[in-house]
Amino acid sequence: MLSWLRRQRPAASPASRCPGPVPEPCPVSAALAALYRQKLLPAEELCGRAGLRRPPLLDADFQARPSVLLLGPSGAGKSSMLRYLLEEAPPGPAPGPEPGAEAFVAVTHGPEPALVPGNAAVVDPRWPFRQLEAFGGAFLNRFVCATLNNPVLESITLIDTPGILAGTKNSIGRGYDFPGVLRWFAERAALVVLLFDAHRLDVSEELAAALAALRGHEEKLRVVLNKADAVGPQQLLRVYGALLWGLGRALGAPEVPRVFVGSFWDRPLRRDELRRLLELEEQDLFQEIQELPRRAATRKVNDLVKRARAVQVQALVLRRLRQELPALPGGRRRRLEQRLPALLARIQSELQIPNADLPDCAQIQEQLLSRDLRRLPRPKRRLLAGLEELLGRDLPALSPLLARAAPAQPGVRGGAFDGALGPFGRGDEDDEEEEDDEDDEEWVVMKDKAKYDEIFYGLAPSGGKLSGRRAKGWMVASNLPSSVLGRIWQLSDVDRDGMLDHEEFALAGHLIGAKLEGRGLPADLPPRLVPPSKRRHKGSAE
Ligand code: CA
Repeated sequence: MLSWLRRQRPAASPASRCPGPVPEPCPVSAALAALYRQKLLPAEELCGRAGLRRPPLLDADFQARPSVLLLGPSGAGKSSMLRYLLEEAPPGPAPGPEPGAEAFVAVTHGPEPALVPGNAAVVDPRWPFRQLEAFGGAFLNRFVCATLNNPVLESITLIDTPGILAGTKNSIGRGYDFPGVLRWFAERAALVVLLFDAHRLDVSEELAAALAALRGHEEKLRVVLNKADAVGPQQLLRVYGALLWGLGRALGAPEVPRVFVGSFWDRPLRRDELRRLLELEEQDLFQEIQELPRRAATRKVNDLVKRARAVQVQALVLRRLRQELPALPGGRRRRLEQRLPALLARIQSELQIPNADLPDCAQIQEQLLSRDLRRLPRPKRRLLAGLEELLGRDLPALSPLLARAAPAQPGVRGGAFDGALGPFGRGDEDDEEEEDDEDDEEWVVMKDKAKYDEIFYGLAPSGGKLSGRRAKGWMVASNLPSSVLGRIWQLSDVDRDGMLDHEEFALAGHLIGAKLEGRGLPADLPPRLVPPSKRRHKGSAE
């Protein structure tokens, strides 16, 4: 079902793919890639000759899994959140001593944990990172691709970024175009998660530049006010208000993105009074992330519409300029500066382009003025007609394909996303796959069973079992975050009847204890943890 997400080699056209069990590409992605090559790419190349360059899209861009870009100041908890979502740490480069030395890390699915340095990652045909080469060696030294065999990564790719510098330190010391790289990733991302530490709010110079780089992609932006469990409710309200205000100013947009408050790591909550709020916020954010694969095809179409509009405007500007320039007397440079804004406004109203989709006038001007205006390429009528067809006919014609593609896509599973099940989630429990491992090993929980029995019977089980609601009250007392408790519930309710019997309860207690001691949770219950009375149950379920 996820087969279409596996990448093709960028160079392979559909016809030249080798025979054998080749994964079927998503029909929408394949159609988009073909339309792009046929109608948009020629116009982009022409605009590129006029200095209006944009890196071309490759087949790998259309086939890639949706990616989530994690962004934020140093210490806001980006890497912790990434580990929290995956429930394991991806292989990573050792953090450098000086600030600004951290790397961009693309965490993507692979058969085993591995770290591929930037120079090799950009030419690897599995990944859509080819064009990052253009950012130069200094950047490639600060880019790695980490692979991990984790179920979450079967449906999304996570991009960790270097911490944004605080105060008035800016990107110049980084040695590469930091906002440019951010823009490149944001353009291709399905979601941009901007994290802040609830303790330290600071819209620094580099952060302002980063926000400017996201311009045009505001609809992908989600803000997380992280570490919210460390402040009291009153202070949280104040910080929340200050953040909204600061963002509104920095983005210069009337609409401020959705801000989630949360504590995205797997440590016990530092203060418990906001548990329910953090739970609900996390579920909302998780739901958005889980929907990404399902909405991927629609998003790709939207992204291409936006791109085609921008190119259409550029091409029209070029054509009109070529028509009007010869009529202009000397001093072309000044004339162009005066004319461009009016020309753009006219094109915008003719094509009814929303303001947000209009390319930056100053930028176009700057790019064009670096050229010899008499030698600007002139877009042919056919090229413009192709763009017109693409936007007016070809892309809208994909809607039936979109409607068919959407429900077929499963949401993101695994990692912290599975914690939103049982009494810690919003919905009913799912039925999960069963393990058929079985063993006569001793039950390791047995040694503490008496202790847990005492608590179990103290909680007044009915019919020998504790309901989710009863058990939850006790589990919450551990202060572990709800998604972790949800995972523990899921592992402990071995027979999936939505209740815990005395053995399952002891198992839950054992797992909570392990987690509080800093140990990880198993993805599946190993045989030595399965209660003796459930071993036959687990074995017999097919
Ligand atoms: Ca049970």
